[in-house]
Amino acid sequence: MTEQQPQIPNVDAGEIAKFNALAEQWWDPNSEFRPLHDINPLRLNYIDERVNLPGKKVIDIGCGGGLLSEGMARRGAEVTGIDMGEAPLAVARIHAEQAGVPVEYRQIPAEQIAEERAGQYDVVTCLEMLEHVPDPSSVIRACATLVKPGGHVFFSTINRNPKAFLFAIVGAEYVLRLLPRGTHEYAKLIKPSELAGWARDAALDVQDTTGMVYNPLTQVYKLNRDVSVNYLMYARKGD
Ligand code: SAH
Repeated sequence: MTEQQPQIPNVDAGEIAKFNALAEQWWDPNSEFRPLHDINPLRLNYIDERVNLPGKKVIDIGCGGGLLSEGMARRGAEVTGIDMGEAPLAVARIHAEQAGVPVEYRQIPAEQIAEERAGQYDVVTCLEMLEHVPDPSSVIRACATLVKPGGHVFFSTINRNPKAFLFAIVGAEYVLRLLPRGTHEYAKLIKPSELAGWARDAALDVQDTTGMVYNPLTQVYKLNRDVSVNYLMYARKGD
């Protein structure tokens, strides 16, 4: 008799625990989440310029406390945010409710909601999440399943090279202490070529890759061509 293997969800419990433990601070711009607050307007503009958010149906994968989800909803998109962390989702729900911004939040793996809602979204966003997942290519396939033909998909993550190790881990976690130690693991960082390859394997066409660069002296983030540390990738699904 063949035994059926239970399906192992593509979730690292240790990663979820890290974000659960910090969730209360999510909307405090002077907390560990400061880098996300700092980059939020940049990435919101990057997305809005390409998709024109008002009226769009958007799903935000790994939404955490909802900085991006709520930001997109404020700009007029109809947003669903999913995450596997219970505490970040609770914070996201309370914040949206108090702000009077409608956002649907659900605790469900990307692969599962992709089965439920295939082809229903104009826009899929999955930012700063893939480097926390055991199999990022599976999440990318789920994103490609969720988006409509002709729709838009956005990823962001951290590159894997000696400079990224120095800036994103040593600099951010140990020297500047922008992030708690252990937030990012070097081996899980993702090269743009790897991300683009997984996107192509999922039948997504990569349109653009843009760097998000932090200047520790001015403490300002900017978008530019330097993808050596943090970067965004924009892809579309064929019609
Ligand atoms: N995307 C948000 C939050 C990034 S923090 C933003 O950029 O503002 C990373 C988030 O990914 C955390 O909330 C964590 O709980 C979530 N996460 C990690 N692994 C996940 C998984 N397998 N499925 C869903 N969410 C996950």
